[in-house]
Amino acid sequence: MDPSESEFVSHAPGYWEADPQWGDWRWQMKHRVTTLAGLERHLELTAAERAGVLLAGTKLALAVTPHYFNLIERDNPGCPIRRQVIPRIEEGWDTPYEMSDPCGEDAAMPVPGLVHRYPDRALFLVTDRCASYCRYCTRSRVVSGVGEQELHTDFEQAFQYLEKHPEIRDVLLSGGDALILSDDRLEGLLKRLRAIRHIQFLRIGTRVPIFLPQRVTPQLCDMLKKYHPLWMSVHVNHPRELTVEVRDALGRLADAGIPLGNQSVLLAGVNDSAETMKDLVQKLLMCRVRPYYLYQCDLIRGSSHLRTSVARGVEIIEALRGFTTGYAVPQFVIDAPGGGGKVPVNPSYVIYHDKEKVVMRNYDGKIFEYPEPVASGEPSRCDELLPV
Ligand SMILES: *Cc1c(COP(=O)(O)O)cnc(C)c1O
Repeated sequence: MDPSESEFVSHAPGYWEADPQWGDWRWQMKHRVTTLAGLERHLELTAAERAGVLLAGTKLALAVTPHYFNLIERDNPGCPIRRQVIPRIEEGWDTPYEMSDPCGEDAAMPVPGLVHRYPDRALFLVTDRCASYCRYCTRSRVVSGVGEQELHTDFEQAFQYLEKHPEIRDVLLSGGDALILSDDRLEGLLKRLRAIRHIQFLRIGTRVPIFLPQRVTPQLCDMLKKYHPLWMSVHVNHPRELTVEVRDALGRLADAGIPLGNQSVLLAGVNDSAETMKDLVQKLLMCRVRPYYLYQCDLIRGSSHLRTSVARGVEIIEALRGFTTGYAVPQFVIDAPGGGGKVPVNPSYVIYHDKEKVVMRNYDGKIFEYPEPVASGEPSRCDELLPV
């Protein structure tokens, strides 16, 4: 493995001439690569990519911040950073079972922009824009402004719904990316949510610290920490995304007392090897980020070239469990097609289980037996666990 993948490398100007405003997030947003000409100014595209870019205008917009663009390896068409943000012709392919709303979110919206799937928590889509667009975006139908639908979040109705539902104790701000909003706009939302007594827990799902670490200013952190308990889920897929700038941004968030989790998506040619994932999760711990979920790639339209087998995900978890820090091992999940929510998928360590004992294997394949309590009188679920 390339040693630079486990090291923190600074990706200050590479493709760009050094610009005094490089560290300003507004400059980064203004100078995003969003067109074919913009891409070709910096990178030699393959025919499959060029065709993909032309397609992007009607499916999911192209946008890459200069910061993230600089991580692309110039001479490697298979670069894992490149695969995540540069469109490809395969996005135009429709393969069986693919959907525009694979997690069935639209059907779980009691009011526009608020998804209420689980009993005690709600997902609040507060914007349809991101700093850069992931080609496998599960919400590409509404995100970036060029897809088949538009997101019309009704903020007033959403707040009223949350007020009227005391069972909701956890609200997750997502989108798009909530950190794209200005500090004032975001603070307005957090303040309003905090005024609802039964909402105990707030979290923000964001890839901004990775695409646009400059956005994580001390002022933003000072604002966020007024709304604790506030947690954050970031989204890193490959160890090279964890640059010095990203590590420092995550450090500022952690210093503001924000517990950080990471959600990765398992992607073919990006992170579908145990070696890459181990590097990633260990590097995340160094950034004070706890790997939270590893997602099987949703059945989003035009994602066949990025999806892997479920078995690959299970293999990766098996290669992590026991072989690295327990905190570094994420939960592998499939967001059930059609709207079942996240379902954990685990390697099987229990080989046999009956009323008397559990027979299991450990991480490196040795077999162990644990006797069940004798005549405990407890109702047993072991019959369900018997292998068929
Ligand atoms: C993922 C998700 C949540 C949060 O789930 P956790 O398992 O608590 O992280 C909530 N609502 C929806 C619709 C989701 O997709």
